[in-house]
Amino acid sequence: MQQKLYKLLHEYYGNVNLHFEVEKVLKEARRSIDYNNPFKNLVITILSQNTSDANAARAYLSLERVIGELSPRKVFATRLEKIKRAIKVCGLYNSKARTIKNLAKYIVENYDSDLSRLIKMPAEQARSELLKIPGIGEKTADVFLGYVMGHDVAPIDTHIRRVSQRLGLVRSGAKYSEIQEALKHSFPRGKLLRGHELLIRLGRDFCKAKSPKCSECPVRSVCKFARESSIS
Ligand code: SF4
Repeated sequence: MQQKLYKLLHEYYGNVNLHFEVEKVLKEARRSIDYNNPFKNLVITILSQNTSDANAARAYLSLERVIGELSPRKVFATRLEKIKRAIKVCGLYNSKARTIKNLAKYIVENYDSDLSRLIKMPAEQARSELLKIPGIGEKTADVFLGYVMGHDVAPIDTHIRRVSQRLGLVRSGAKYSEIQEALKHSFPRGKLLRGHELLIRLGRDFCKAKSPKCSECPVRSVCKFARESSIS
């Protein structure tokens, strides 16, 4: 399954940038997001929870329009209500605004507003540090490890959870760590982050929550759900 799943996904999607929805929003607004900036990366990841990439990017740009270029100190000094109003477009704005404020507060108070010390830590230590911040979960911490710190890691979101179960990589109700472990055996070494992107794309394009488009899906030949539904 390892080489086959990755091969099928890679054959279908190739090397295309799978963040094209964000790119489109940024291009239209003639703006950019510095994903390598640790604080900005965490903010966009929080905004992207349970919404489309496009709406997360719109919320991010709106927040920058309201308070200027994002920094922990600036966000910490901004009233919660103002943040809520700015990010409304991405949904769940009450809890997301609180998490962003908590994040800024934590970084100002514990890291003197600068995460460069954290990104020099070993991966597990940095992950534990991030998980101490109220509202920061495993997925956000792993996105940080992958995109900011350059580690080979697969953050698990709702799309990946659903697709992994249907493919038969994990049992129904599998824990976050079990899914990560299964993906380590399903993608070649060094390709976990790309595997994460590919599975999210597959979930959005074919393996939709309500009605999966199995007959058109590029990985149906290795899928347990399709096999059991006699679609492969
Ligand atoms: S074949 Fe169907 S269930 Fe399997 S991954 Fe594709 S869309 Fe999802």
